[in-house]
Amino acid sequence: MDFALSDEERAIRDTVRTFVTREVMPLEAEVLRRERAHQPGLDRSELRELQLKAKKFGFWGLATPEEYGGMALPAVMQSLIWTELGRSFVPFRFGGEADNILFHATEEQKREFLIPTIEGERISCFAITEPGAGSDAANIKLRARRDGDEWVLDGEKTFITNGNDADFAIVVAVTDPEKGARRGGATAFLVDRAMGWRSEFIQTMGEGGPASLIFDGVRVPHRNILGEIGQGFTLGMEWIGKGRYTIPSHAIGIAERVLQMAIDHANTRETFGAPIGTNQAIQWMIADSETELEAARWLILRSAWTVDQGLDPRHASSMGKLYGAGMVNRVVDRVLQIHGGMGYTRELPIERWYRQVRLYRIFEGTDEMQRLIISRDLLRGYTKIGGHLA
Ligand SMILES: Cc1cc2nc3c(=O)[nH]c(=O)nc-3n(C[C@H](O)[C@H](O)[C@H](O)COP(=O)(O)OP(=O)(O)OC[C@H]3O[C@@H](n4cnc5c(N)ncnc54)[C@H](O)[C@@H]3O)c2cc1C
Repeated sequence: MDFALSDEERAIRDTVRTFVTREVMPLEAEVLRRERAHQPGLDRSELRELQLKAKKFGFWGLATPEEYGGMALPAVMQSLIWTELGRSFVPFRFGGEADNILFHATEEQKREFLIPTIEGERISCFAITEPGAGSDAANIKLRARRDGDEWVLDGEKTFITNGNDADFAIVVAVTDPEKGARRGGATAFLVDRAMGWRSEFIQTMGEGGPASLIFDGVRVPHRNILGEIGQGFTLGMEWIGKGRYTIPSHAIGIAERVLQMAIDHANTRETFGAPIGTNQAIQWMIADSETELEAARWLILRSAWTVDQGLDPRHASSMGKLYGAGMVNRVVDRVLQIHGGMGYTRELPIERWYRQVRLYRIFEGTDEMQRLIISRDLLRGYTKIGGHLA
């Protein structure tokens, strides 16, 4: 058994770490200042400029196939990179990426949607959630009715990341209510904003925010169906599957950064004539955080490794998402506690992380949904205790 990184993995990881330290972290003070003034931390042109700088470093399209100019990195490598990005709260991600399901596009759709998204010329969003269907995504109601060579979309999507900025939406709609979404009754459509949907920003406890998308008789050409008619739910689950290891990988980076802040603070802040780190109460918070962080790291790397091995990653990635999201919430909470009153202020970014990571237990499958998947797999015998070692 070998828990070491390969030379290549270490080199790539270290290059990303250098980029984040030199180019991303110096922006943190300004990002905080802007967010405190209710402005976006980075605007679109600044993000693009940083992404182009990263491209010169060699980072462009982590998951994108080489034929589209990407790096096509294995999932373990992507996980290690997402961890590095998690070390800064600056809303930066590498460019050259597109939603994984856009690769199901036809050649014509690729020219219109996929390639401009990879190039950063167009912004996409993915919309399955509705006011009446979140965890129970198969219960969606947004209806698409065929009218000659067009489909007419009516209904509402909600909580859509990038929904207010997107140029087009990948919308999962009901095309055959009798079949039900799970059994071929839902279809994915590529819908330009110019076709007539509108978005409404939703304020959340986090920075930025998702949006509701409103479809009121929006006409979409038949050629804008993504994949096959009836494949919408399957594509939706494929889209969500990607986040099951990237989100907790990001969480590890956050936990690493804030835990180091807590250690530094524990060694320097003095009460009763001694650093607070000399108290067992503080030591135990640090010890528990480090232990949980390491447990999460290996669970999540294993789930990414499962993807690379071509094994079914769902069980492992549900455990990684569940544990990683919980871990980062517990760690940030303890780190805030270790910083005392200062942890609660807006002078430090800890309260920002505290608000940000709360989302990780909700989106792309709540804690409860992950537990449902994990237990169902075991109860129905789809998987064995012990995973690939069993
Ligand atoms: C900031 C943000 C960004 C998002 N981005 C996107 C996006 O880009 N695209 C998109 O389509 N969606 C997006 N979502 C939606 C997100 O995926 C849903 O909010 C999530 O799946 C939960 O659905 P819900 O909010 O309807 O909660 P509900 O499904 O109503 O659940 C409410 C509570 O009940 C629990 N629960 C539900 N059913 C069960 C059960 N059977 N057993 C036990 N407990 C249960 C849930 O776990 C939860 O705690 C986003 C959400 C947020 C907040």
